[in-house]
Amino acid sequence: MSLIVTGTIGIDSVYTPHGQAERVLGGSCTYFAAAASFYTPVRIVAAAGDDLPAPFLETIRHFKRIDTAGLEIRKGSKTFAWGGKYRDNMNGRDTLFTELGVLLETPPKVPANYVDSKYVFLANTHPAVQLGLLENFPKRKIAIADTMDLWISTARPELEKLLRRVDGLVLNYDEAELLTGKANTVAAARHILEMGPTFVVVKKGEHGCLIVHRDGMGALPAYPAEKVIDPTGAGDTFAGGMMGYLAQRCEQDAAADPRSIDLVRYSLAHGTIVASFNIESFSLDRLTRLSREQIDERYNEFARMVRVH
Ligand code: AMP
Repeated sequence: MSLIVTGTIGIDSVYTPHGQAERVLGGSCTYFAAAASFYTPVRIVAAAGDDLPAPFLETIRHFKRIDTAGLEIRKGSKTFAWGGKYRDNMNGRDTLFTELGVLLETPPKVPANYVDSKYVFLANTHPAVQLGLLENFPKRKIAIADTMDLWISTARPELEKLLRRVDGLVLNYDEAELLTGKANTVAAARHILEMGPTFVVVKKGEHGCLIVHRDGMGALPAYPAEKVIDPTGAGDTFAGGMMGYLAQRCEQDAAADPRSIDLVRYSLAHGTIVASFNIESFSLDRLTRLSREQIDERYNEFARMVRVH
């Protein structure tokens, strides 16, 4: 099994209408890997500074199927830190600060035994780092990238180069607009397809997600959640559930194509469900208390809800 993710390990400070959590464990890679580990073993490639609190490492290791051989703790470096504040309706958020720290240094090294990875997820980090890491996985069956406003605004040329190399892109609706200048989500996604990928998944928070694929389209509502405490990591856990499912399915059936519209469409439902748990509490708290049985139970409930024939 060879799902791999590269992205950030973060120290987050989050403010929501329900409360706040300061200097807690976050990061795109962390959320993704924890979510994917409910489906399949997952390798991480990321760097943090030696200021990363020891309990954060314990939390990452709590997820037994995360392989941390590619996690570098660098002496004298500072861990990536991010602060965000949610608006009253919890759908919008403003970034309060981004301290790149270790992201400004050389990218983390890929352990030699990781190069056979087949399912590659490039979680949010600098697109140049995403591109560099992608080159390490010549046997990949699929590569999907995530991106966000900061990189669209500050590293567009590298991002455009990345888009020519990946099979799929996952991003928020407002980021799709920022990238393309198109406010209509479908039009924005089609524009992104012209930039290179085979499919684009546009996330719309509580309004679900849209997939525009070269072979068609699909749409899915979000799980109707009543308890939304902290949406941080919703996007990364969505991607983790999605990619974890894709990797699991394709390992069971060697003939399955992880880039096919049907498989990707099914995978979105898994992403939706894992994300719906993550938002029930701050940081990775809910994920550390989650079981695959709870995911499957909610998945079945959701499948009944969205069935239309
Ligand atoms: P999400 O809510 O899924 O968009 O992801 C939030 C997580 O992404 C937080 O835990 C942050 O530590 C991390 N994050 C925030 N900004 C960035 C960025 N520019 N690049 C990489 N990771 C980020």
